[in-house]
Amino acid sequence: MELSGLQIFKFLPAAKKAEHTNCKECGFPTCMAFALKLAKGAANIENCKYVPQDLKEKFEHSRKQPQNTVEINGLKIGGENVLYRHEKTFLNKPALGVVIDFSKPDWREKLKRINDFEISILNEIYKVDLIILKNYKGEKIENAENTLAEEEFLKLPLEKIEDDNFSKTAEQLKFIREKAILEKNENYTKPVYIEFEKSSNLEELCAKGAFYICKYANMLIFNDFDEALFSTLITLRGNIFTDPQKPLKVEPKIYEFNNPDENSLIFLTTNFALTFFAVANELESLDKPSYLIVTPADGMSVLTAWSAEKFTAQMVAKTLQKFNLAEKVKNRKIIIPGLLAHMKKELENELNAANLDFEIVVGTIDAFAISDFVKNEFPVLG
Ligand code: SF4
Repeated sequence: MELSGLQIFKFLPAAKKAEHTNCKECGFPTCMAFALKLAKGAANIENCKYVPQDLKEKFEHSRKQPQNTVEINGLKIGGENVLYRHEKTFLNKPALGVVIDFSKPDWREKLKRINDFEISILNEIYKVDLIILKNYKGEKIENAENTLAEEEFLKLPLEKIEDDNFSKTAEQLKFIREKAILEKNENYTKPVYIEFEKSSNLEELCAKGAFYICKYANMLIFNDFDEALFSTLITLRGNIFTDPQKPLKVEPKIYEFNNPDENSLIFLTTNFALTFFAVANELESLDKPSYLIVTPADGMSVLTAWSAEKFTAQMVAKTLQKFNLAEKVKNRKIIIPGLLAHMKKELENELNAANLDFEIVVGTIDAFAISDFVKNEFPVLG
């Protein structure tokens, strides 16, 4: 584990009320300032001559990379520093690979299915990360960028964990990751992978794959390919391997659903990805066309954005002007999220002041209620 500023400070002269307390020789005004900078990697431990040997050893140990990163054609495997995402962030999503056996007659069809497969999550396209070529004799293949001959793969500094018994495998994965992260034990620095044998029991493969993604495989390899299995695991992986310090956001703009025209419904929300997709899903399945105006809010949900002053009446007016909404539509009613009902008057006043003659309609708190709301409030429009 990395040392915090406070943990470092406890070893310094100021904490011990010893000679040289806050002497500034390190270039920082106090021992505490030095400790905080050192913890952040913004100072050199050698700059303080009074650091005791035991702190030097602890510090050196804390700086050791617990798990190596293995790179295959730009695909990074391992390199994790924490046990839990909330401690900092996970760095590299567990890679998902498939083995293609060229001694089997169906290799071409299997390769085509793998190459054709892709899934889009939050506007990003995901494919199979790695195709391992078994019994490959140089057959001509297209789209070879994410392929690797099995002999080459087996030379990589990775640790294989057998999948013969679920609880034993899970225990082993946990043991290895804890040894690497908590102890920085040099015997456990290799990223780990699990190779699944062929199985017709997709539910079992999916359940085990999901568990191992959560704790703590760096890579899963399958000896067969199934689109539904990969879609499920990629989606799960995407949910876990997000950076908690970076909100998921979508591009602020006007989104269109079901070919809207100048009379169509107009909804408004912030650019928090989860809110956007919940609302977009409902608008897609509405029997009326609509626009969704997405305002810039640093990826915050509506209420958080409002309390952080990232969703203000002025910002809404600016966004409508930027997107030329008044010229684009004849409809003059904008439906805002129900959670922002208290902003109705303020928004209307601001829009009027900006010569935007829109009326604000308070919509639903939950996205799933949009359909009923539209049926009741706008039975004709659209
Ligand atoms: Fe404290 Fe060492 Fe910096 Fe002096 S040189 S202020 S003792 S950290």
